[in-house]
Amino acid sequence: MSAVSLKTLCDTYTAHHAQSLADCEHIREAYMFAQQAHHGQKRASGEEYFTHVAQTALQLAQWRLDATSIIAGLLHDTIEDCAITPQIIKEKFGEEILFLIEGVTKLGKLQYKGKERGAESLRKMMLAVTHDLRVIFIKLSDRLHNMKTLSHLPVAKQRRIALETSEIYAPIASRLGMQNVSGELEDLAFPYTHPDQYLWIKKNLKESYEKRNQYVLQVRAIVEQKLKETNIHPITIDSRAKRVSSLYKKLVANDMDIERIYDLVALRIIVHTVEECYLVLGAIHSLWKPLPGKIKDYIALPKINGYQSLHTTVFCVDNKPTEFQIRTQEMHEQSEHGAAAHWFYEITKNTKSYAKNISQKAGEKDSSIVKQLQEWQNQFPGSQEFTDALKLDLFSDRIFTLTPRGEVIDLPIDATPVDFAYRIHTEIGDSCIGAKVNGKIVHLDYRLQSGDIVEILTQKNKKPSESWIHFVKTKYATRKVKNAIRKKTALPQKTEYKIICEARIGMVKDILSVLSRNRIPLISINTFENERFPMIKILVDISERKKAEQLFLKLRKVDGVREINLRMVE
Ligand code: MN
Repeated sequence: MSAVSLKTLCDTYTAHHAQSLADCEHIREAYMFAQQAHHGQKRASGEEYFTHVAQTALQLAQWRLDATSIIAGLLHDTIEDCAITPQIIKEKFGEEILFLIEGVTKLGKLQYKGKERGAESLRKMMLAVTHDLRVIFIKLSDRLHNMKTLSHLPVAKQRRIALETSEIYAPIASRLGMQNVSGELEDLAFPYTHPDQYLWIKKNLKESYEKRNQYVLQVRAIVEQKLKETNIHPITIDSRAKRVSSLYKKLVANDMDIERIYDLVALRIIVHTVEECYLVLGAIHSLWKPLPGKIKDYIALPKINGYQSLHTTVFCVDNKPTEFQIRTQEMHEQSEHGAAAHWFYEITKNTKSYAKNISQKAGEKDSSIVKQLQEWQNQFPGSQEFTDALKLDLFSDRIFTLTPRGEVIDLPIDATPVDFAYRIHTEIGDSCIGAKVNGKIVHLDYRLQSGDIVEILTQKNKKPSESWIHFVKTKYATRKVKNAIRKKTALPQKTEYKIICEARIGMVKDILSVLSRNRIPLISINTFENERFPMIKILVDISERKKAEQLFLKLRKVDGVREINLRMVE
């Protein structure tokens, strides 16, 4: 495959952007620059390296991103893989482009090594350290092309990259509402993460492929006729085969029985208006009975990532359950391109200026990015404001730090190395004497930042300092420090004596008088009747061994005492 031509790239860009002559000139410069920079470099596939960055840029143009993103896409590997310095990029293409490229490079360094516990944190961290969604779009486009050419890499590398793609990048794309990208990444990763299952599915699906195709054509003809009668003119009706990766998930849930999967075939109907969506749904239900519980109105109640559509599964021709998805063109675009589509709609629309302050949103947690974007959409209608909004911290209440081994530890904002230490393990927190952040020694009250690599220095038998309570951020660490301090001052504080003695009148009185003569406070006294000799157990306020032994000798002299045990207790 030869590289995407400059013409194709610019044509794709201008198809969605007005007044873009100057932009095209900038894209041309970057195109030539990247071609020159990567000259002579080859991909593992044997292709010119430049094909990779050109393809990355084209994908960004297809997502309708701005010229800045496309240029950064062309240049994204020049600093990392060529002898180009950040300074040169800054001089030739400006600070914004450099910022995007460095963001992409930074993301590349956060690698997922397959630790279950880290996946969600790593996803969040990637979004948090990015500060500009365009960095994520470029990275997704880069990854998409890398996945398409993955077969040329060594097997171990294939597995790692495929795992990272399905655990980290596909979910990020999904969270950004880019369902199509997410699904494509999953599908590209699947043969590498599940090689045997992939072959099994391919074999078993192939046999039924022709039959299904016939069936779809039959259903489609009936639907077209019905819509014509109802005077609805859909933009498109198409059928799709289920993605291999999502099919596998369904198969697992259905005992690997392909006959039990209802929606091996789904038809998608795109119409002009929301009203038409509901009319089409009605028309389909008048043809075939719906399966109970399978009607989903994601138009009235969009999914958390912003997805909108009507879904229904009906007992269709020959009573075969078949799924229909009905949506408008705009909803379709949204589901294909997600946040990237939003980004585009946003910068091309311009109306009134925003009134509310974005900081009001800072307290909200766990709301999806797309939901946030939708809220911002109302608040930042002009292009610059919206771009600025995208640069805000998407997780303003959390920071994401790393252990030296690359495990992600997420903490509240302003957390310190002590919070970090206690998050890892109580013992690490208790024995913490110092910390290194990104290789440099810092004070224990240092405020950690997202992306910091934190190394805790410990010393055996060290106890926490009371002063820590004043600067630790998490309640967890505060409680742990208090516990440790209480232990430190409380150790060991009491002495217990078990006295075996004869059963004689005045025994207890004589023991107590030994205590009072020596001015030793009694904490408790208990007597136990045994078969032969009673036992008296006393607990006294003695915290020193030496003192405890002196009392021991005095108690031994009491008339009738046969045996004494002493024990220091906390
Ligand atoms: Mn790349």
